[in-house]
Amino acid sequence: MTEHTVSADTPFRTGFVAIVGRPNVGKSTLLNRLIGQKISIVSRKAQTTRHRVTGVLTEGGAQFIFVDTPGFQTRHKNALNRAMNRTVTQVLADVDLVLFVIESGRFGPEDEQVVKLLPEGARVILVINKVDMLADKARLLPFMERMSGVYPFTEIVPVSAEKGQNTAQLLKAAMPYLPEGEPIFGEDDITDRSERFLAAEFLREKLFRQLGEELPYGMTVEIEKFEAEPGLRRIHAAIIVDKAPHKAMVIGRGGERLKRIASEARVDMEQLFDSRVFLEVWVKVKGGWADDERALKSLGYE
Ligand code: GDP
Ligand code: MG
Repeated sequence: MTEHTVSADTPFRTGFVAIVGRPNVGKSTLLNRLIGQKISIVSRKAQTTRHRVTGVLTEGGAQFIFVDTPGFQTRHKNALNRAMNRTVTQVLADVDLVLFVIESGRFGPEDEQVVKLLPEGARVILVINKVDMLADKARLLPFMERMSGVYPFTEIVPVSAEKGQNTAQLLKAAMPYLPEGEPIFGEDDITDRSERFLAAEFLREKLFRQLGEELPYGMTVEIEKFEAEPGLRRIHAAIIVDKAPHKAMVIGRGGERLKRIASEARVDMEQLFDSRVFLEVWVKVKGGWADDERALKSLGYE
């Protein structure tokens, strides 16, 4: 008898669960709440989760393998967003269960766009999030009724991801939809992403938070060195921007901003890796006009 077994005649269940919804409905917050640790990126800004992040929860005789998809983009139709929408569709066709997250009391055109992405025959639980923000609780029931006409949802579960209200019930409702099967990940695994990847994600999150609207377009984070030994991680990271003025913006006056970004990222990394972290962060200019000789010439900077 393994630790996974609940009772001799209850089969173990393992399944893939996608979390979808328009930006800002609380998908990352929900994933973090369900997993119980901070692994996906939570932000007020849309599109911070550019990579697919998988979280794993092994509990109560089941293993939930969560897939957090990039925000479905309706506003800008560039190549990156088209690729992201393709990712969403591919993920949805591949999973056992979809958690479709919306905000309580709100169902707009952007939410409808997501409904259009749901493959036919998909099993979808509608998660009505942020019920803590609902001033009038009596409005919830009529809203749930209205939503049941939008798509044949297998369940409708109101939650507050942030406050943890009803999230245990959500897991209970989801469990029967996972197919019977042995766990794929170890019981303590919370993610199949490497620490290196997560380190970059943490830095990106802090950049989003600190820079807000000033966030330079095309900014990327690269982990140039990642060394792990028991109880210690040595990480060299580069924040790469297109233009020299962006570099100054990231660094801030007297280096204050970069210091804050790095130190907040380090705190998160230490918590997740359960280890001390030495983190060095550089800001580099790459690819923009500053590095392009021809562009410089045309501007008269010879
Ligand atoms: P995502 O873009 O769908 O991944 O959304 P996030 O998880 O990044 O959350 C977007 C914003 O909504 C953040 O500011 C969260 O703190 C907030 N949020 C998420 N869940 C809840 C909730 O249950 N209640 C409230 N009041 N805010 C929430
Ligand atoms: Mg997110």
